Amino acid sequence: MTQVLMTRNKAKRSSGDMPIYKSYALHNYRNIPQIQRLPEELLFDIEVVAQVFPFKANSYVINELIRWDDVPNDPMFKLTFPQRDMLLPHHYERIASLLKRQADKSELNEAVNQIRIELNPHPAGQMEYNVPLFNGMRLTGLQHKYSQTVLFFPSQGQTCHAYCSFCFRWPQFVGMDEYKFAMKETELLIDYLRAHPEVTDLLFTGGDPMIMSTRVFENYINALLEANLPHLRTIRLGTKALSFWPYKFLHGDDADRLLAVLRRIVESGKHLAIMAHFSHPRELSTRAVRKAIRRLRSIGAQIRTQSPILRHINDDADVWARMWQRQVELGCVPYYMFVVRDTGAQHYFGVPLARAWQIFHDAYMQVSGLARTVRGPSMSATPGKIQVSGITEIHGEKVFVLTMLQARKPELVLKPFFAKYNEDALWIDELEPAFAEKFIFEN
Ligand SMILES: *Cc1c(COP(=O)(O)O)cnc(C)c1O
Ligand code: SF4
Repeated sequence: MTQVLMTRNKAKRSSGDMPIYKSYALHNYRNIPQIQRLPEELLFDIEVVAQVFPFKANSYVINELIRWDDVPNDPMFKLTFPQRDMLLPHHYERIASLLKRQADKSELNEAVNQIRIELNPHPAGQMEYNVPLFNGMRLTGLQHKYSQTVLFFPSQGQTCHAYCSFCFRWPQFVGMDEYKFAMKETELLIDYLRAHPEVTDLLFTGGDPMIMSTRVFENYINALLEANLPHLRTIRLGTKALSFWPYKFLHGDDADRLLAVLRRIVESGKHLAIMAHFSHPRELSTRAVRKAIRRLRSIGAQIRTQSPILRHINDDADVWARMWQRQVELGCVPYYMFVVRDTGAQHYFGVPLARAWQIFHDAYMQVSGLARTVRGPSMSATPGKIQVSGITEIHGEKVFVLTMLQARKPELVLKPFFAKYNEDALWIDELEPAFAEKFIFEN
């Protein structure tokens, strides 16, 4: 902790090493002591880019994750604070000139909204295809794409501890209300699950459901457990809290109460799966995260880990190998490596599929079988999760071997298919089928 935060927080500190949560966004980030030491051009870049991509950081990320000596190159800094190149040059120039001449709010908002719409805020047909209909109602807080798993977007979990601009959820954070998936009524969720006995997994997602206070979260869990749904075998929590605020699971009343709620899930006989988002081994290195992992495991939760592969952050095989190895040591199960989606700052974070596969391969060969539970690189696309399984040559033609790990048409899973090799393609829509007229999901 820096001197300034230390003195300000000392009086309010609770027991042990639990720091006070302080959150920063565009309106107050210049109060961060480490930021004040950065050159003014860098701060102006942050200001410009943050108009389009909102950002948020907290005292843990600032004081324990970012290595300020390495800024601006530090990966945790790049993950948290907007970077100039996240905007295309003409978008950057447009916003920068509006700020320089102190244009009025409405003019700025108009430009910002136009840019956001150009950045494909709703990839993979989430709005059109995945929101279920139930008794004539569109359940906008649910998505049900693969038969066994329902995604639930609790309305109080529609924000995050920090925002990542590669995230397909970014429209949820920027006040584009019509895009907001949210559902208040737990009752509707339960009725829906009752009517769908094929569902084994309910995945709480967001934003980040672990940003809710435990009092709110507890209501959802109590209602689900009381509803007595024997086919519901697993409750999954998709969260970045272990990386960005592990204290959520450590000391204090809210944390103790949360652990008690989570323990009740396990004691009810259901599997509790924490789907933890870790993008860099640094996020596994602090005392706080290690304690939080130990505490969650002690009540019987299983932590599985996933992250996109991101240029400037983790596009390096050694980084992934180290990350998976540490996860196994800590008792976590490596689960997915995702390809960054066709939304937001893909042009900044995107890694071509060919390179992503090479990195996956080179990392995989460095770890033992215990870490080879991980699958990827995988694209969550409209037809399903498409894995790049390999690059090979067949009858003299260089191709990608692709496999669906999840499919809107379930019978397509695990059937290999081929695409012409393309060194630069970032996403499935930039690939062409090989040895066939169409991809298998297009029939
Ligand atoms: C990834 C995903 C799931 C969960 O898939 P698993 O392979 O079971 O982890 C569920 N629904 C949607 C829409 C998804 O993208
Ligand atoms: S949902 Fe995950 S990836 Fe998206 S902004 Fe939140 S922490 Fe980042």
